[in-house]
Amino acid sequence: MNPLSQLPSVDRLLSSPALASLLDAHGRAVVTGMVRDVLAATRAALKEGGALPDESTLLAKVGAGVTAKMRPKLRPVFNLTGTVLHTNLGRAPLPEEAVQALIAAARSPCALEYDIESGGRGDRDNVVDELLCELTGAEAATVVNNNAAAVFLLLNTLAQKKQVIVSRGELIEIGGAFRVPDIMSRAGAKLVEVGTTNRTHLRDFVEAINPRTAMLMKVHASNYAIHGFTHAVPEAELATLAHQHDLPFVIDLGSGTLADLAAYGLPHEPTPREAIAAGADLVTFSGDKLLGGPQAGLMVGRKELIAKIKKNPLKRALRVGKLTLAALEAVLALYRDPDRLHLRVTAVCQLTRPEAEIAAQAARLLPALRSALSALPVTVGIVALQSQIGSGSLPVNRLPSAGFAIKPEGRKSGVLNRIEQGLRALPKPVIGRIEDGALLLDLRCLDAQDEADFVAALASMQIHS
Ligand SMILES: *Cc1c(COP(=O)(O)O)cnc(C)c1O
Repeated sequence: MNPLSQLPSVDRLLSSPALASLLDAHGRAVVTGMVRDVLAATRAALKEGGALPDESTLLAKVGAGVTAKMRPKLRPVFNLTGTVLHTNLGRAPLPEEAVQALIAAARSPCALEYDIESGGRGDRDNVVDELLCELTGAEAATVVNNNAAAVFLLLNTLAQKKQVIVSRGELIEIGGAFRVPDIMSRAGAKLVEVGTTNRTHLRDFVEAINPRTAMLMKVHASNYAIHGFTHAVPEAELATLAHQHDLPFVIDLGSGTLADLAAYGLPHEPTPREAIAAGADLVTFSGDKLLGGPQAGLMVGRKELIAKIKKNPLKRALRVGKLTLAALEAVLALYRDPDRLHLRVTAVCQLTRPEAEIAAQAARLLPALRSALSALPVTVGIVALQSQIGSGSLPVNRLPSAGFAIKPEGRKSGVLNRIEQGLRALPKPVIGRIEDGALLLDLRCLDAQDEADFVAALASMQIHS
């Protein structure tokens, strides 16, 4: 008998009790589509001489297919990479206050561009501009989609068809797609490089200034550091020079934390407040790097410059939505209490977590990991690790941390890839890193509240051979 004619019909499979809960969860259209796909694939296999699968196998395929298809792409993961502000994993996790503000703004109408006092039209920047001025000492502020957009918008507004003088040592590339020279030319500004890679002097800027100069610019060399015979011009001197020529002095700070991280034992990172105090007319920085907020590009500085920027039609194209503003307002409000940032701003909590606390957590979790991997030819131990801040912030600094090193016994290095895949295949994937022949799991970013979930995830892990 022709095996094709023995295949069950779409309706027969759909009416099977095995698919009832799938139909309930995902609806008729999705499940029916998957039944058709599975039957079509089975028919094709039969034509190639394959064996007729039984009905329960077909139903299992439909179940697995629907579950995989309906699983969200943007899934939460455990970030055990050791990089705290991991751009590929969404950078800063938001504090609970920001999550709640975001949910509230998402769920109902909110006063985004509405002045509740007067009942008139408002400006969405008003949600955060007072807070930003209070925290940075600036006269005015505005917000766009990310810091790359902030830099682009300010160049396009203030330097189109004009020249921008930048030190050669600051013509950086950040994560591939953001290169200072490329942003300049796309914004319509002409880059004038001065100095050399390692040394730039005030006289280099003086000599480059001419009637077509629009501004002097400093770019924080976020993700690299040069050492040895180096010289950069102090910000206050550049500001004075710019102002002597009636030009603005602009700083792209990149990370730009609003708190002095040195108070938490981290290296000092320049703050927007310091930049403004040094005479900068405009400062731009990211919302989701050291600040620990949502993705956003923050601009603070002189009133008339911010006003010009806000009038650029591109501001409308680069504006942020209410969810971003809700989260940003809540995070900025936390900075009004600088003494408790390490308890309240999640990214700062993770960056300042003491090594001893992380090591104690590793000791608590070691038995669960050992038992999950007990059948495999590996050794599992606790090791001292060095976390990175990430997102190009403070690139040379490392944070002493702790975690697990999983090493193959003998020369069976393929087992590490299988474990790494098993961890990634969990409903909430665990992301570690393979380095020097070991799979490393840095626990710095594992919240104590998530430990039980982590243990449960390990217990459910399946390693394929
Ligand atoms: C990160 C960074 C940017 C880009 O900021 P995004 O918020 O990622 O767009 C620009 N300039 C510097 C110096 C940076 O460090």
